[in-house]
Amino acid sequence: RQLLAGKVAVVTGAASGIGAAVVERFLAEGAHVIAVDLTEPDGAAPAGVLPLAGDVAQAGTWTRIADLARAEFGRLDVLHSNASVNITAPAHELAETDWNRQIAVNLTATYLGVRACVGLLGAGFPERGAGAVVLSSSVHAVAGLPGHPAYAAAKGGLISLGRQLAVEYGPRVRVNTVLPGPILTPAWDGVSAEDRRRSAAATAAGRFGRPEEVAAAVVFLASAQSSYITGTSLLVDGGWSAK
Ligand code: NAD
Repeated sequence: RQLLAGKVAVVTGAASGIGAAVVERFLAEGAHVIAVDLTEPDGAAPAGVLPLAGDVAQAGTWTRIADLARAEFGRLDVLHSNASVNITAPAHELAETDWNRQIAVNLTATYLGVRACVGLLGAGFPERGAGAVVLSSSVHAVAGLPGHPAYAAAKGGLISLGRQLAVEYGPRVRVNTVLPGPILTPAWDGVSAEDRRRSAAATAAGRFGRPEEVAAAVVFLASAQSSYITGTSLLVDGGWSAK
C-alpha cells in the first residue's frame, strides 16, 4: 500500500539533494507534488510533479504555491519546508546581509509557508491530523560547530517553531522536524576530502547518510504511519550526536 496515495504535497528545495529524494519518494508513495526551487528544472517534469520556480523567502512565492494547490487540487496535505542556504563564516566575519539571508531562507520561509498554506492543510481528508508539516532542521541546531552562527540559529529556531505550530494547529495538522547529520548532497561539493572523511568518521554509522535515508524519515512523518507523532524532532544523523 502506498503511504501517501492521492495526497497533495509541497516540497521546497526540490531540485537538489534531500529535497529531490523526497520528491521521488513522495511520487513513489502516490502523492502529487508541487516542487519548489529557485529555478525551474530543465526538461519535462515527471508525471505527478508540478514545478514552481520561486524564492521561499518571498511571501509572494507562497501565495503562488497556495494558489496553485487550491486551483489544481482544492487542498494541500503535506508541506515539507526543506530549502536552505548555508554561508560559512564565524560571527565576527559574517556580513549582516548573509546573516539576514540565512534567517530568511532557513527560518522565516517556514513561517511564510505556514501562513499561506495552513488553511488548505489537512482539509481534504476526514481523519484528524491528516495535514502534515515536516521541517528540515539540522544537527547544527543541537551541537555547536565553528562557522555556522546564522545557519545554526535558524535551524534551532525551526525546532521551536515546529513545536509552536504543532500546538497551534493540532489536531488538524501535525508538525514535526527532521535533524539530518552529514548527508552526501551537492551541499558538500566545496568541502575538502579530509573534512568529509572527518564528518563521516564522526558518526556511529561510520559513513555519510544518503538523501533517500532522510526521505524515508520525511515520508514516515508525512504519512499516517506517524499519526500520533507531532511537535517532535527526529535525528537522522547516523548516530553523529550520540558519539
Ligand atoms: P542542497 O544544497 O543539495 O539543496 C538545497 C536546495 O534548496 C537547492 O536546490 C537550492 O536551489 C534550494 N534553495 C536554496 N535557497 C532557496 C530559496 N530561497 N528558495 C527556494 N529554493 C531554494 O541541500 P541538501 O543537502 O539537500 O539539504 C536539504 C535540507 O537538509 C536543508 O534544509 C539543509 O539545511 C538540511 N540538512 C542537510 C544536511 C547535509 O549534510 N546535506 C545536514 C543537515 C541538514
